[in-house]
Amino acid sequence: MQIKLFNTMSRKVEEFKPITPGHVGFYSCGPTVYHFAHIGNLRSFVLADLLKRMFIENGFDVTNVMNITDVGHLTSDDDDSGEDKMEKGAARDNKSVWDIAKFYTDEFLRDSFDMNLLEPTHRPRATDYIKEQIDLVKKLEELGYTYEIPNDGIYYDTSKFAGYGALTGGALSGNRAGARVEFNDAKRNPTDFALWKFSPRDKKRQMEWNSPWGLGFPGWHAECSAMSMALLGDHFDIHTGGIDLSRVHHANEIAQSEPITGEPWVNYWVHSEFLVDKSGDKMSKSAGEFLTLTVLKNRGYDPMAYRYMLLLGHYQSQLAFSWDALESASNGYKNIVRRVADLIDAAADSAVDDAQYTAWHDKILGVVSDNLKTAEALVMVQELLKDTTINAATKIKLFEFIDRLLGLQFIPRANALRELENAAVPTEIQTLADARTAAKTAKDWARADEIRAQIDAAGWSIVDTKDGVKIVKKA
Ligand code: AMP
Ligand code: ZN
Repeated sequence: MQIKLFNTMSRKVEEFKPITPGHVGFYSCGPTVYHFAHIGNLRSFVLADLLKRMFIENGFDVTNVMNITDVGHLTSDDDDSGEDKMEKGAARDNKSVWDIAKFYTDEFLRDSFDMNLLEPTHRPRATDYIKEQIDLVKKLEELGYTYEIPNDGIYYDTSKFAGYGALTGGALSGNRAGARVEFNDAKRNPTDFALWKFSPRDKKRQMEWNSPWGLGFPGWHAECSAMSMALLGDHFDIHTGGIDLSRVHHANEIAQSEPITGEPWVNYWVHSEFLVDKSGDKMSKSAGEFLTLTVLKNRGYDPMAYRYMLLLGHYQSQLAFSWDALESASNGYKNIVRRVADLIDAAADSAVDDAQYTAWHDKILGVVSDNLKTAEALVMVQELLKDTTINAATKIKLFEFIDRLLGLQFIPRANALRELENAAVPTEIQTLADARTAAKTAKDWARADEIRAQIDAAGWSIVDTKDGVKIVKKA
């Protein structure tokens, strides 16, 4: 099947052609573990997950990498100034840098599990690749791309790299227009960036390493070039991240990598747009106020409802988060789960129609392979549910495929719902339900309501159906 992706480099939707037939290698910028991931960060990770699923369903052998940034990310991404995000997070939490790295990595892994993100083939931590980063800086030094700023670090001279900023169409001079920070005067060009930062003389850093340039730590951008090349080779297919990374972080990754590889380094750059609030502001960790998946869960939302909400949009468009939008996505999601639960019950009485299965499979995979049009795939899911010419067994087999492709866990959730509905009712609950029916018959509404509340408090709900009272375990 033809695969198309929007390539930020060409600003066009392009047909995907793998470097090695049948194989795709891609790298995704992962979280900086100085704080919880917010639900905006999760949007960029869902993009990586969807890509992986789409390639797997197209029969590709996938090698993908998502790093954990646990060093070297300063509060101003634009000019390598400001505080070290990890040290700042450690001071805030009153823990060591190593402890917060572990803590927030574990939190991130739990979010990834809850969001049903497939495990990447490799999940390298920047601190495990210090040698590779030093080697990268050494090579750039040998090639004449670096200079030293005393008491500061080794910097990359962006004027030496002809294609600098090509990803965002920016020439050297235009790239920093409107930059919100004053740049380091000692830099030769405003866009130059740190490859290696020296440890301050008067203060011991918690994370620092020896290098040919003395004690210090790598600049943030170095890790993604070093780790991707170590794990995917000098030339790989796709690189992903949030759109904010394209202007500086990814421009710098390209500038670091291509002088070394001597050839184009990445073929396709795929970026996800922001999750914004109602006023259009980007959700960000540095702004202090942000929503995590835990907050959503504590308000009773299934992480799959949030994933469903993301998939109702397109990764190239901004998506506004509001509780109303989540509530409506959650209702839509539950509605599908309810119908899938009914289909599971009915499926035993029919056999899969292979021709219909293939037709729907190809139709749905077709829109997702066409630049990840997940919203269109979800419209097809609704059409599939409505189509009375397709039997339950065929629909269920299609939902198994839809779950693999979109990761929405419709079938596991439908099974959980059936289990709750079929759970044996304990005698005391049955006795209460009978007493409620008796109260209703006697028109003692107050008593009936009181008993219903008792049943509710015990974790069961009473549903009055046309066939009588149903007692259902609450989720
Ligand atoms: P960080 O943990 O800050 O290094 O960010 C991890 C990923 O989340 C990066 O790919 C960012 O571009 C992305 N990101 C940050 N904020 C948002 C947002 N509001 N919406 C979507 N993606 C975001
Ligand atoms: Zn990166």
